[in-house]
Amino acid sequence: MTNLLPEMAEIWQQTLNWQPTLQQQTQFQKLYELILEGNRQQNLTRIVEPQEFWEKHLWDSLRGIASLLSVNFSSASPALIDIGTGAGFPGIPVTITVPNCTITLLDSTRKKITFLDNILSELALTNAKTLVGRAEEIGQHPQHRRAYNIALIRAVGSASVCAEYTLPLLKQGGLAIIYRGNWTEDETAALQNAVNQLGGVIESIEQFTTPLSHSIRHCVYLRKISTTPVQFPRAIGIPSQKPL
Ligand code: SAH
Repeated sequence: MTNLLPEMAEIWQQTLNWQPTLQQQTQFQKLYELILEGNRQQNLTRIVEPQEFWEKHLWDSLRGIASLLSVNFSSASPALIDIGTGAGFPGIPVTITVPNCTITLLDSTRKKITFLDNILSELALTNAKTLVGRAEEIGQHPQHRRAYNIALIRAVGSASVCAEYTLPLLKQGGLAIIYRGNWTEDETAALQNAVNQLGGVIESIEQFTTPLSHSIRHCVYLRKISTTPVQFPRAIGIPSQKPL
């Protein structure tokens, strides 16, 4: 085995107060191998070195949902959606670690979704399904609009664009988690203006340092407090061309 992921049990414990089970560690390893293999077919990720993969794909994905790792969802399983999931981040690590949730992995690129279908079957993950489409269309679809408890989004667009993609999909009281690198006060002001129009509020903005490379990252948490007006999300391409 040349590409062995580090286990990092102590770091998981110290940073997220959580550790993967043996089965979850095996699934992480298998996911890593399938992505390395898939990278030969299509451009999935540039993050291929084991430590970097562990930090930027596994740890980062789970840092954003850290509060869910310790929740027992035995009674009501929450519905999650990962918008622009790409090679499956943060959605696949979340699927592996929060087995009581149901998750929809959305991406506009069919080739990526085909790759994810194979991942789900290879890892025997039955609590996730895939969906090909644009967030702008899915957000207007009666089957998906107001259907989710939690929406995840990483590296898809500016925070205002992410707000327009996520909030229409949430039930009232639902949570959007926007994964970001750097964050500035100007972005808070722009996002504030967007969420006001979309029926949300900025609940919190968390800054953290990644455990291996010590890079600064942020997670922005939006709460949906009222109905999103029907005109949102706007037509394909408009949210990114004319951000709120
Ligand atoms: N979330 C992943 C991938 C980010 S790359 C990660 O953090 O690693 C952005 C992905 O979003 C691409 O796979 C692209 O196909 C998808 N995407 C971009 N705009 C989209 C939209 N409007 N609706 C759905 N998917 C979109």
